[in-house]
Amino acid sequence: MDLNEQRMQFILMLRSRGITDSAVLAAMESTPRDAFLEGIFKERAYENRPLPIARGQTISQPSIVAKMTEELELHSRCKVLEVGTGSGYQAAILSKLVRRVYTIERHRPLARAARAVFQQLDLGNITVVTGDGSLGLPEQAPFDRILLTAAAEDPPANLLAQLKPNGIMVLPVGQTDTVQAMIKVVKTDNGLEYTELGEVRFVPLLEGIAKDSED
Ligand code: SAH
Repeated sequence: MDLNEQRMQFILMLRSRGITDSAVLAAMESTPRDAFLEGIFKERAYENRPLPIARGQTISQPSIVAKMTEELELHSRCKVLEVGTGSGYQAAILSKLVRRVYTIERHRPLARAARAVFQQLDLGNITVVTGDGSLGLPEQAPFDRILLTAAAEDPPANLLAQLKPNGIMVLPVGQTDTVQAMIKVVKTDNGLEYTELGEVRFVPLLEGIAKDSED
């Protein structure tokens, strides 16, 4: 199967997994996942699997990326914060759907690599910050939407505080190596509303900037 054919199958696969939002599907279709992978993993970019990236991290499974994106209920005027840039793939998908994306990564080399891919793909509305995303990004807050792609035990209080009224946050919660749940938090006038969206497995949300940050 050539790459075009693989990419067509990819969208059919996402549909078969219950992704119905046409804007999300279009964003996934127009974003080359292979650009966010290295070496032998490029060939496997259109499989519905998480794959290894540098620094022992992973690019998320495409059906999970699509599901999280859908659950964020994005619109074009949104300002979005992502915690856990990793390869940059999820941020690239978000950038096609909203006005502005801020993404934070604790491994400086990953942040740098993601920036290079965004430039190569001409995605001009993403800002990559090296830092501890559990603190959020107070200087750009508040955000319409916040997405975590690393698992916390509970929704971080700093991030909830940086969410606008009626804002939505999607994140995996739970301890690593046990079952985690993807949850959606909506900040309503009557407080926070939680919905559980199914089992997932993500790398943990860790504190501080990684020691490789001088690389
Ligand atoms: N969204 C990514 C997948 C991320 S994997 C993609 O599309 O490829 C999770 C990432 O979260 C890892 O790169 C990890 O280094 C990062 N991470 C973990 N804890 C963090 C924290 N406190 N702040 C910022 N990034 C963090």
